[in-house]
Amino acid sequence: MSTTVLIIDDSETVRQRVQHVLLDGHVATNVLFAKDGLEGFKLLLNNRIDLVLCDVVMPGIDGFKFLSLKKARSELVEVPVIMLAGTASDVHAKVRGLEAGASDYLTKPFDDEELVARVKVHLKIKGLQDELREKNQRLEELSNTDGLTRVVNRRHLMELLDLEFTRARRYNNALSFVMVDIDHFKAINDRYGHQVGDEALTAVASVLRQDLRRNDVIGRYGGEEFSLLLPETVGDGARVVAERYRKRLEEYQLNAQGERIRLTASFGVAELAPELTNLDALVRRADAAMYQAKHQGRNRVVVAAMDGSTERDNVGS
Ligand code: GH3
Ligand code: MG
Ligand code: MG
Repeated sequence: MSTTVLIIDDSETVRQRVQHVLLDGHVATNVLFAKDGLEGFKLLLNNRIDLVLCDVVMPGIDGFKFLSLKKARSELVEVPVIMLAGTASDVHAKVRGLEAGASDYLTKPFDDEELVARVKVHLKIKGLQDELREKNQRLEELSNTDGLTRVVNRRHLMELLDLEFTRARRYNNALSFVMVDIDHFKAINDRYGHQVGDEALTAVASVLRQDLRRNDVIGRYGGEEFSLLLPETVGDGARVVAERYRKRLEEYQLNAQGERIRLTASFGVAELAPELTNLDALVRRADAAMYQAKHQGRNRVVVAAMDGSTERDNVGS
């Protein structure tokens, strides 16, 4: 594993000395140099740096100004900075540096072993923090994902819908919600068993996930029901999206037990309208349109009209 340390100091002698100590002490594999805070900040932005050693007094952007530049960038908060102070007596500067975001302080001339030991401690803390952050991210992903189909689960889908619903109403943006229910799914379970049923659900999820726009979301709403959350999309746009997926699903074949299983689904589309003052009303409208599609013969898309009634859409079989 490589460890990159950035040394910011206006003195060439100090830079060389620190580099030798770090490399000899095996706490760094790569070393980058900067002569002042600005140069250092630019290197920090453009490289994956594990730790910074920074002089306090430098011409131009000094150590304190470097710390405040770094503080403004949230992606840099976890990179530890050890300040290299010129005089042993200046307690005030140490406190100021620590308050400005430095992790530690060393006074020049520093002891080689102490430098290595302090760098080790802060690299260790950073490593643990990185690990913790990755684990938390992984946990969050898991808690938002449906275990079978790997799409967003219902709880998270509703959270995202809440967010988009609020945003769309506030800024008067379009928003569409599509309810997708697999046709005669019970027959697949009954005929081929639950395991094939589960495979079919996973297959439908992957068809629905294909070419999804970056801000669009597909979630598993319930057993064999999926939902599409389409921000900044009017009902007509959502109809086109739903129709594309309806066709793809119709053309898809699932191979199971030597047979080719065909799957279709019914789609209900609802767009945000002024009278829909809560998100349940939007979901209900999409659900009603989906049931309408079932009644009209399944494998089709029905868009709820603005007043909530459903209009006929002659697609599918
Ligand atoms: P329709 O066209 O009217 O939607 O018919 P349908 O058979 O799809 O509708 P119904 O709601 O009667 O049946 C849904 C079935 O989905 C019932 C249930 O056994 C099955 N199901 C729900 N969740 C899962 C799951 O996680 N795995 C499997 N294998 N089946 C599931
Ligand atoms: Mg159902
Ligand atoms: Mg169904």
